[in-house]
Amino acid sequence: MSPADLGGGVWSVPVPIPGNPLGYTLVYALESAGGPVLVDAGWSHPDAWAALSSGLAAIGMDVAGVRGVVVTHHHPDHAGLAGRVREASGAWIAMHEADARIVRLFRQVVADGTHRGFQAGMLRRAGADEDETAEVLGEVVDPPAAPDRDLADGELVDLPGRRLRAIWTPGHSPGHICLHLEDADRLFTGDHVLPGITPHIGLFPLDDPDADPLGEFLSSLARIASLGELEALPAHQWTFHGTAARAREIADHHEERLAELLDVLGEAARPLTLWETARGMRWNKPWEELPPVLRRLAAAEAAAHLRLLERRGRASRTDGDGTLFYSLT
Ligand SMILES: [Zn+2]
Repeated sequence: MSPADLGGGVWSVPVPIPGNPLGYTLVYALESAGGPVLVDAGWSHPDAWAALSSGLAAIGMDVAGVRGVVVTHHHPDHAGLAGRVREASGAWIAMHEADARIVRLFRQVVADGTHRGFQAGMLRRAGADEDETAEVLGEVVDPPAAPDRDLADGELVDLPGRRLRAIWTPGHSPGHICLHLEDADRLFTGDHVLPGITPHIGLFPLDDPDADPLGEFLSSLARIASLGELEALPAHQWTFHGTAARAREIADHHEERLAELLDVLGEAARPLTLWETARGMRWNKPWEELPPVLRRLAAAEAAAHLRLLERRGRASRTDGDGTLFYSLT
């Protein structure tokens, strides 16, 4: 994969995600009078840094001249390299205020050493066994750099001479944004709308009593659909036309998953823990073959769907001695 000129002063630079089946993050470079602005930065790894800096050089941009990095969300394949770009160039880093709060909290709990204890307690309450908990805790990614600029919904990004507007699309992360290049009918969709896969929608913490990430995600998809059909520039896979149609397809997929989950709860002889519920759903591999980290993501996905069923009055949650159980209402 090499950088591509997408026309209109926009280039894509594929930045590899080492060891990840997604392959790469598409970092977009936008030309402006004040220097290039990047949408996302890629995973923090020497190979990724080499691909980003040499990719920018290949299109006549110097990483040292980057004006700013706007990240669609705080995940490591998007925000990971933003700090390195800032060190090389003095660029600002911007993200939505909700993800900015998460990054600052994440940096704090890693720094003060409370991160592991918090995660372990959460996994036990969800019904994970000790071995799974230990394995999951073995893989902690470094937190991304703290941003310099917190973006609010609807705010214009600092891109001189152009109109790039932050559209808050919570779901995949609480502060996910799509970026609407209004002068070109283009939408940088991050992970919110991808052409061939659906993004992970998980509840975190797993027993958060208030959050409804799937409900928010479905509202965010409807919001994108309401913008009309735009050209999508997603953070993975490939660019495509038809953001509204794809947003509706992704929403339909989740309605099917919700129906499947009602079947799992309906067929159970007793209320299920979150882990048991996740085990009963279909994944791209049998549950026994999923590595622990993917099991945790699967449990988070199941928790997000359970939460929306609760909100719709179809499922209920009871606390049995610190472990949560789920059943049909
Ligand atoms: Zn991603």
